[in-house]
Amino acid sequence: MADAVNALPFFYGNITREDAEEYLQQTSTSNGSYLLRQSRNYLGGFALSVLHSSRCYHYTIEREPNETFAIAGGKSHRSPEEVIDYHSQEMDGLVCLLKKPCNRPKNMQPKVGPFEDLKEKLIREYVKQTWNLAGSALEQAIISQRPQLEKLISTTAHEKMPWFHGSITREDSEPRLQSGIRVNGKFLIRQRDTNGSYALCLLHEGQVMHYRIDRDRTSKLSIPDGKKFDTLWQLVEHYSYKPDGLLRVLTEPCSRPDGDMGMIGGRPPLPRDHPGITSAFQNAAGGLFNKIKTQLPIPGIKKSGRGSRQSTSDLNPYETTVPGYPEAGKEAMPMDTDVYGPYADPDELRSSTVDRSQLFLEDGELGSGNFGTVIKGTYVMRKTRKPVAVKILKNDDNNQSMHEEMLREANVMKQLDNPYIVRMIGICEAESLMLVMELADLGPLNKFLQKHKQTTVKNITELVHQVSMGMKYLEEHNFVHRDLAARNVLLVTHHYAKISDFGLSKAVGEDQNYYKAKGHGKWPVKWYAPECINYLKFSSKSDVWSFGVLMWEGFSYGQKPYKGMKGNEVMQKIESGERMDAPMNCPMEIYELMRTCWTYKADERPGFTVVEPRLRDFYYDIAQ
Ligand code: AMP
Repeated sequence: MADAVNALPFFYGNITREDAEEYLQQTSTSNGSYLLRQSRNYLGGFALSVLHSSRCYHYTIEREPNETFAIAGGKSHRSPEEVIDYHSQEMDGLVCLLKKPCNRPKNMQPKVGPFEDLKEKLIREYVKQTWNLAGSALEQAIISQRPQLEKLISTTAHEKMPWFHGSITREDSEPRLQSGIRVNGKFLIRQRDTNGSYALCLLHEGQVMHYRIDRDRTSKLSIPDGKKFDTLWQLVEHYSYKPDGLLRVLTEPCSRPDGDMGMIGGRPPLPRDHPGITSAFQNAAGGLFNKIKTQLPIPGIKKSGRGSRQSTSDLNPYETTVPGYPEAGKEAMPMDTDVYGPYADPDELRSSTVDRSQLFLEDGELGSGNFGTVIKGTYVMRKTRKPVAVKILKNDDNNQSMHEEMLREANVMKQLDNPYIVRMIGICEAESLMLVMELADLGPLNKFLQKHKQTTVKNITELVHQVSMGMKYLEEHNFVHRDLAARNVLLVTHHYAKISDFGLSKAVGEDQNYYKAKGHGKWPVKWYAPECINYLKFSSKSDVWSFGVLMWEGFSYGQKPYKGMKGNEVMQKIESGERMDAPMNCPMEIYELMRTCWTYKADERPGFTVVEPRLRDFYYDIAQ
């Protein structure tokens, strides 16, 4: 969405209402001339400015919870552009019809707000510091959780601002503003209570004025009778360029005594248009994270009331997902779990053999497959204990070929290291051959969705997107999975999926990018591309076909694909050009992507390098 809006020639980005009026009045005198800009008080919202009888009118286009857009109280549309199309036909409450777009001057890009500008840096620092991640684990965390991270940064960034003094009293705030430079407009914000209300304290002609900032039922913040904002930093930004009911604009952030804001006191003049906020963010994105790490909000935590916190390490990540679904662990991110990043102590796991005396198996199966059973266990290492899943080879017939197959599976898994792929911990040769893996406690995706029909489209998109990230990794590393299906995607939490079951997987050469099977086997035909069945050829492109079927399973809540049909009937259906229908309530963009995955010719089918970003874009749009 962001990209689509950015591409509109009449979108100006984060400009002020006054700037919008200037652009409109300079370029046109005709009624109905309009432009679109980013909302400066609502996250993800827009503002529409319209010229009529030489006056400008401004309308907020809100992003609604179901990812639609509407002018407050008006009809909902799928995008801000559609809102504009609609109002070029229907006034429906507007002062006039939208007639002529007022396009940006040549060479002008939509203006990026001071926060947007630094958001990227803040997110990166945040992920690095909070989860101690680096390299590709950090990149993958940001790609998969960007909407959640952006929200988190946007709503908690004030905690890192020099002007935010936490919960100090009115009496404590006054000497802070009166000491040091005593310029008009010097300000700070303090927390008044744990219900999310604050106070803006402002120095004016030697006196400190205190303005209450209340939070309404929809969580919006405002000074009594003032404009409403989603975040404190938007509020500060707004009152930094216009008093709008205050005695004066905010000029100089009063720095928190403990905060090492470096530049405050003898610092260079602040930028004219956003005096308070710009330098504050620059500082926040700099070394500040190191200084105030203990103050960082911890994501994925359950709050038992505003202000009360529990560190992620106190939580069992598995526990957060099961009871009371979906409320429990609502915001849990993959990085909050033990199985996200590389192991804490790689030395402990350098060897891929597991010592039987340190492996403790529990009663009861997690599941069973061709090889035998999978059981939950604990692997006790030098420093830590790890919950594990142990695949145990059937012992009955002492089948040598099964033994070899399992070792082959282990050999593939050993070479893979990605947050969205089940990692192998090691092989244990004892009473049976055992493959010890990371535990994905919530089991296969299809079964989970059958049981949890309340799972949202956004949540399913998040999970299948993670699968596409794991598959992109496999494609880049020249492995073909050959058994990609919802049953082989295991969930660690309801926000964290991992690809499993590498029993049929093969490494392929970089030059010859497919694997040719020697003959037909016991194959999951309904998940296989035509070239697999017809020519025994398996490539990442045939995995893409399977991924299309997996998406279909996901969005139909774990239903069986081609229900009631036999393998050869499915093949005929595909050969005749037919494909499965869209699952009920499946978003159009998702079904289109499935159909693209089911492109008949492998050469014309996209790879995961194309599929993953398409899914990512859709996910970001609906998750913003
Ligand atoms: P497989 O033989 O790999 O198809 O595994 C059979 C079943 O065992 C799966 O469908 C899961 O229910 C369970 N299972 C396999 N691997 C794991 C794991 N790493 N964590 C949790 N359950 C697993």
